[in-house]
Amino acid sequence: MAHDDKHRAAIHYIRAKVDQLLGLMGTLPLRPEELDDETLIELDPIGIIGESFGQVITHLNETNHDLQLARNEIRAILDTLQAAVLVTDREDSLADCNRSALDWFFAGANIDSLRGRPLGELCGCWADMAAARAGAERRPQEVTLGGRHLQLIASVINDERGTPVKTVYLFFDISRLKAAEQGLQLYAQVFSHTHEGILITDRQQRIVDANDAFCRITGYALEELIGKTPRLLNSGLHDAGFYAAMWDSLRSQGHWGGEVRDRTRDGEIIPLLENINVVRNAAGEVTHYISVITDITSLKESQARLDFLAHHDVLTELPNRLLFQDRLEQAIERARREGSRLGLLFIDLDRFKNINDSLGHHVGDLLLVAVSQRLRDLLRRADSVARLGGDEFVVLSENLGDPDDACLLAHKIVTAIRQPFRIQDQELHIGCSIGITLFPEDGPDAGVLLRNADTAMYRAKESGRDGFARFSRELSEDVSGKLALENALRVAVREQRFTLHYQPIVTLGQGRVVAAEALIRWPDGPGATPDRFIPLAEETRLILPLGEWILRQALEQYHAWRAAGLALDYMSVNISAVQLAQPNFTERLLVLLDEVGIAGHHLQIELTENILMGDMALSQRVLGGLRGHGVRVAIDDFGTGYSSLSYLKQLPIDNLKVDRSFVRDIPGDPNDSAIAAAIIGLARTLGLEAIAEGIETEEQERFLTEIGCDKVQGYRYARALPAEQFRAFAEGFRILADRAA
Ligand code: C2E
Ligand code: MG
Ligand code: MG
Repeated sequence: MAHDDKHRAAIHYIRAKVDQLLGLMGTLPLRPEELDDETLIELDPIGIIGESFGQVITHLNETNHDLQLARNEIRAILDTLQAAVLVTDREDSLADCNRSALDWFFAGANIDSLRGRPLGELCGCWADMAAARAGAERRPQEVTLGGRHLQLIASVINDERGTPVKTVYLFFDISRLKAAEQGLQLYAQVFSHTHEGILITDRQQRIVDANDAFCRITGYALEELIGKTPRLLNSGLHDAGFYAAMWDSLRSQGHWGGEVRDRTRDGEIIPLLENINVVRNAAGEVTHYISVITDITSLKESQARLDFLAHHDVLTELPNRLLFQDRLEQAIERARREGSRLGLLFIDLDRFKNINDSLGHHVGDLLLVAVSQRLRDLLRRADSVARLGGDEFVVLSENLGDPDDACLLAHKIVTAIRQPFRIQDQELHIGCSIGITLFPEDGPDAGVLLRNADTAMYRAKESGRDGFARFSRELSEDVSGKLALENALRVAVREQRFTLHYQPIVTLGQGRVVAAEALIRWPDGPGATPDRFIPLAEETRLILPLGEWILRQALEQYHAWRAAGLALDYMSVNISAVQLAQPNFTERLLVLLDEVGIAGHHLQIELTENILMGDMALSQRVLGGLRGHGVRVAIDDFGTGYSSLSYLKQLPIDNLKVDRSFVRDIPGDPNDSAIAAAIIGLARTLGLEAIAEGIETEEQERFLTEIGCDKVQGYRYARALPAEQFRAFAEGFRILADRAA
């Protein structure tokens, strides 16, 4: 074969091989061994073809390898991406997606099961995706899907002719960003709405921000603060040492907290509670200071108020026991040094409990305030008054020239308290009993002086209230104490160690004993009178068994007298508020009357106005029930309590007992005379009977006769007597009257 022919054949062969090669491209990589080397060499003696063919093969091999690598790389990148990538084809069916997309949208399903399916039916947010594609140039779209906040970007891929072939959808998870954004918003809200003032300065302490509260507290507008330093607020009240310690703490601990007094824009000094924190960056350098302030003006005020309260009585704002004790001790010290004398007056209001029980604590409180005001008005500046609690007051009078000065002061107080009080449009009458001790005469220290004054006060109460008593040595011996009295009372009630005495009630016109008032006595008791132990019995509710015993005893006595020929109109028995408030009071009383065998109209119960007014509804019900059975009702101590007279018409009352205090000073005292006359007149107008209590003198008797009071009771005729003596007295008195007649 000629050389030219051979060469032509070779070229032909190569072309065929190249074609074959190109045809094989789909099944890469192609191995060079597949070509017949020998033939090649034979056909291509100079090796040019073989060489270029080898290069082609190698190149193809490398390209193929790189492509695969790039493809793997891209997939790896896509799969590790914290974003979902979805690729759709021309028909909007899923062409491909990454792992995040599988997880987020398709619950981790396999891509092969999804590929080729229309995205419209696969994806809940297809509408958003379509919108994103339509506005591909515009801002990224935000989508929420399964609790995730996603940002969606769509990008369309065109072929070489510009026809869209694929769309790539990218979803970025911006949930954390969103949360952070909300967090920041929250902080901003806290910053602007908190009650604490917040101030932020840079490292040079130039103010960069302050919240509304800070501006409100300091009075500065934000613009006035920005750029300044907190020295703007300096009050000048803290020394250099204070600020040095503050900076010390800021440097060493990054924090300072304490109380400061700053000056507001108006120049006012305000107390603040301040906390300063140092803010550092990652490198540990100071970037800011944050100061949080709280206005503690009101706290300071309440502290002062608390301090005041610890030493004062809330109601009357008088010094309390604690402060008084302190003052007394100091006064004693001074008196000891100067050799002077001081007087202590222990004041207890009479029948205050009645007011409280009947008109309510509110009225009681107002009365206490009024009493304390009256005491204040009465005293010299040098004297001090305190409230020890309840209705107990105490007055300290320093530099007394004469021991009698204390008595003069006591007299002034008793007289002042006796004047009526006007409380809530009602006129209230109250008295007080005062016990007096002197230093150095009656005790070496505050404790003994107070205790002895208390004892003397009880003496004043026992001798008829509304007066005063000086302490004496003998008195100190009967400091039985309330507790001892209560214990003794308990035993006495259990063992029925009481007796009843009876005070005659007489008619002046007929000169006859018409009735008896039963008054309790405690023969072997600790010397206490009913005025002292009855309130205690009420307080401890021992009055319930005691009261029942009294009623039965009195009714049986009345029955016995009757049987013996002493026919009184009725027996009068004192009843306490506690008894009246018992739910079955009426029933028990009626049963008792029945048991003893006495008609209702032979019993009179004595109640004070305050008891009756305490609970009008109750009074009406109980008294109404009793009236139905003929039981008589008398108002005891009339004129000392509630002065609204309207209740006289509302309640079934038979008898007014004019209080002893109005009788005591008649006819000398024109006031008392007028009151007594008015009460008698009132009783007559209302068709009620009136009894004047506590007649001791002939003048009193004459005056009462003149103003038309016929029934009387008092020492002038007889004290309360034991049953036997009463009977003798009553019969004798009748004889006396008969003789007079
Ligand atoms: P009251 O019911 O107003 O009794 C009148 C008090 O005045 C009696 O004192 C009586 O002894 C006294 N008195 C009578 N006439 C005169 C007088 O001419 N001059 C003076 N200075 N006083 C006179 P008593 O017995 O110490 O009783 C005091 C209060 O104790 C009574 O006041 C009454 O509120 C209460 N009380 C006495 N006995 C009982 C009782 O059995 N039950 C209840 N619940 N209270 C009683
Ligand atoms: Mg009475
Ligand atoms: Mg009375």
